[in-house]
Amino acid sequence: MGEKIICSGCGVEIQTENEGETGYAPPSALKRDIVICQRCFRLKHYNEVQDVSLTDDDFLNMLNQLSVKKALIVKVVDLFDFDGSWLEGMHRFTGGNPVLLVGNKIDLLPKSVKRNKVINWMRRQAKEYGLKPVDVMLMSAESGEGVMETAKAIDELRNGGDAYVVGCTNVGKSTFINKLLKEFGAGEEEMITTSNIPGTTLDMIDIPLEDGKTLYDTPGIINHHQMAHLVSKKDLKIINPRKEVKPIIFQLEEAQTLFFGGLSRMDFKEGQKQSFIVYMSNELHIHRTKTEKADELYDKHAGEMLSPPDVEDLKSFPPLQMKEWKLPSGKVDIVFSGLGWVTVSGEGSVIRTHVPEGVHVTMRDSIF
Ligand code: GDP
Repeated sequence: MGEKIICSGCGVEIQTENEGETGYAPPSALKRDIVICQRCFRLKHYNEVQDVSLTDDDFLNMLNQLSVKKALIVKVVDLFDFDGSWLEGMHRFTGGNPVLLVGNKIDLLPKSVKRNKVINWMRRQAKEYGLKPVDVMLMSAESGEGVMETAKAIDELRNGGDAYVVGCTNVGKSTFINKLLKEFGAGEEEMITTSNIPGTTLDMIDIPLEDGKTLYDTPGIINHHQMAHLVSKKDLKIINPRKEVKPIIFQLEEAQTLFFGGLSRMDFKEGQKQSFIVYMSNELHIHRTKTEKADELYDKHAGEMLSPPDVEDLKSFPPLQMKEWKLPSGKVDIVFSGLGWVTVSGEGSVIRTHVPEGVHVTMRDSIF
């Protein structure tokens, strides 16, 4: 693109390459006299919000702006990727403002799991990250479960003030806001507008509340440690579960390995025979083999039998890096950021994980 084109809605520079990123407009939009980015287009024509991503600096800047305001912070996380969607260090930037923690995508967790157990687990996790939320809610923005309850909690906890909804991209923030807009029937005349975040080029979306206060939808931030950045859009559909995840139980012996597509691998290096419970998308192919054959298998079959990634994506796929874990007492989850987790127990057992460079693996108290 030669000359810079500016969105006449929010002032951001227009680009036509990366959908979902700041300033995207389809190439056909450039033919119009007045060019606006896709985000502003949707807001204007469909009264529909769409999340876009900020750079890390802009995001911190935005959070800093929140710390000087008196408002309720509504922090949305993805329950299927709790750690990957957490936004670490956020509490340092939100000042003394109360934080309502909302776990979205509850529909993906097995139905048999008690909701209270998930809420208590979220409180414990939040505490480990240094955050003490005023309350914790569960919802599925997509199915509608818990959405009204969450809206009610926001209304009570904001105490007559404003509320800011924050979260990293893909947690379902736009789905949630759009659901609220539909439920509350925000019509054309109710004027959803945008306001500027000082120091950034991006706007927040302001949704008027009955008492004259505002619910602000803030832009998200991309979480770089997730697997999602390494696969194509087509493969994202495979690794992002769309339906309730059915756990798969493997009884593994020492020196056995599980491949999660060709994206990651887990070796049971040492320990008594035990169960490995995999919580990942039902569409993802899991392959079990002997550890001694695993390297060769990967060299020969990555991109085909072990996919995603496909042959094309494999060319730019980072090499897998190994990390060793000694299991503590109790049940733990080994979490592959953006892919899911494996629940294991067996104090003293040794496990090795192999993930592409840059993707995080963490160990946490088991969610169930
Ligand atoms: P945002 O980037 O935070 O605004 O996220 P979106 O609202 O665009 O949602 C990201 C993806 O998650 C989309 O594919 C949604 O369909 C999906 N999604 C959002 N909410 C839910 C939910 O409650 N359950 C499930 N299963 N998927 C959801």
